[in-house]
Order: sequence, then structure tokens, then C-alpha cells
Amino acid sequence: MKLLIRSDLRDHHVGYDESRYWRTRDRNWLLNLGILRRIEDAEYLACEVCADGTLGEVHLDIGPEPRIYCEAHGLMRVRPERLQRWRLDFGALGTAIRGALKLTGNSEVVTPGRIWLLGRQQLGKTPVEFFLIRGVAWSDNLELLMSAPRLTGSRAPIFVCPDQLPTSPEWARAGRASLRLSEWAHLEQGQLQIEFDAFAEVCVREEDPAERALTPTPVVARAALLRKFCSNHGGATVGDVAAWAGVDRSDLNKWKLGKEGVPDGGARAHRIEQLLQRDIRVRG
Ligand SMILES: [Zn+2]
Repeated sequence: MKLLIRSDLRDHHVGYDESRYWRTRDRNWLLNLGILRRIEDAEYLACEVCADGTLGEVHLDIGPEPRIYCEAHGLMRVRPERLQRWRLDFGALGTAIRGALKLTGNSEVVTPGRIWLLGRQQLGKTPVEFFLIRGVAWSDNLELLMSAPRLTGSRAPIFVCPDQLPTSPEWARAGRASLRLSEWAHLEQGQLQIEFDAFAEVCVREEDPAERALTPTPVVARAALLRKFCSNHGGATVGDVAAWAGVDRSDLNKWKLGKEGVPDGGARAHRIEQLLQRDIRVRG
């Protein structure tokens, strides 16, 4: 879902040339979901002859096909489909998230173009409200937060962020959590899927002080916890994690699968949990 990473840019778009590197199936799914919206055609395109992809201005009024003007090669014909460009539609993304998480209650635009209330869901005893946030790490993020009383007044909000997470501590106050879509969402059979149960396990552990007593991670959430830890540590490998926890790779794998040999509460399981839950390394 590279589109999610791209969408953190203020004026993001995806051009046809680039979209050819995506799987056709994924692009069609995105278009069918309405998440990928066609925008105005490109005004500049890369010259297909120049090795460095020099951009040339598009001319539509010289003959039946569009042409670009390249300084090195002059006027060159280009295939019309190369002009197509798309952008992530946040409103449609919000609708897809609401469906994927089976949210109920009202949905509304809180701050046009930036904050959408998607609905709510009961999480244990707490009714949690979901907000889709665009540009949570942009320089104006504090003004954005302060100008949205609907959001700051929410007792247990989850901020759904396309990729970048909040960098200001105000967004991470007690009771607030952020869900990074690029990490927890994927497309399956043309539908947006979000691994919310696994996210909730990790999130409760991080947010709730009562859980700080290092409860063993449920086996179903271990693979996700491990993945999240690796991705938060610059793409660390399973070997790195085992070394930092001071266990063999095979022990780490047994712990992940909940197999005998690395029992919960034992020294090796404890070192793994210390590392993955609290980032405490036994060995440097
Ligand atoms: Zn050229």
C-alpha cells in the first residue's frame, strides 16, 4: 500500500507510469473501492528515450495524439493513457475503513480535508471513536488538534493515520491511540482489511498502565507484535531480535508459536517480552 505512504505528502498524486509498477489487480481494487480517484491529466511526462527520464511539456494541439517536447529529442508522441493521474480519496478511504472495522454511529467531516469521524466500536468496556487524520505529522498538527473540539473531547479516540504517526506528545495523551494503516491494513479480494484485533492487543499493552505488569502476549498476537517491533526498529531481522533478547532464534520462534520449550513466565519468554513490549535489551 505504497499509496498510503505517498498520501502523507500535501499534494500527492500517482501517475500512470508509476502505477504500472503496481499489480493490475491492486490498482483495479483501489479504483473499484473508489479510494483511488482520477484527477486532472499530467502536464509534464518523462521522455521515454532519455535515460534519466527528463520531463517534457505535454502538447495536446499538435496532431491526434498527445506529444511531449524533449530538449534532446524534440517532439515525441506519447500514448494517451500515460497522461492519467490519480489521488487517494480520503472520504472514500474513510468509508472503506468504517466498513472494514464494522463501525457504528455517526460519521462526519470534523475538519474538511484533514479530520473525519468514522464511527465507533465497543472495545471491551470502552466505546472507542475512530478518526481518520490526514497530515498528523505536518507542521500545523498542533493547531489542527486544538481546532477540533469534537476530537479532543473524545474520551477514547483512535487516530487512523495513513502512514506517518503523530510526532507531538499531545496526540498521544492517555486514552488516545494511533493506528498506522500502512502497517495494519491490506487489500484482500478487493476489500480493505484491517488487522484490528492484533493492533488492539499491542495498543492496550502500550496505553494502559495497569497492563504494564508485563502480561504475556497472547499467542495470536505474537507474530504481529514481532513484525511491529522489527518495523519500528528500522527493519530489524528475527536474528537481531533474538540476539537483543539473548535467546536462540529457535526459541524466539517457539515463543511466537506458543510451543512448549519456551513457557510463559520462564526466563527466555520474559526476556523476549521485555524486549518486544518495553524495548529493554538484555544484550546490546
Ligand atoms: Zn528525450
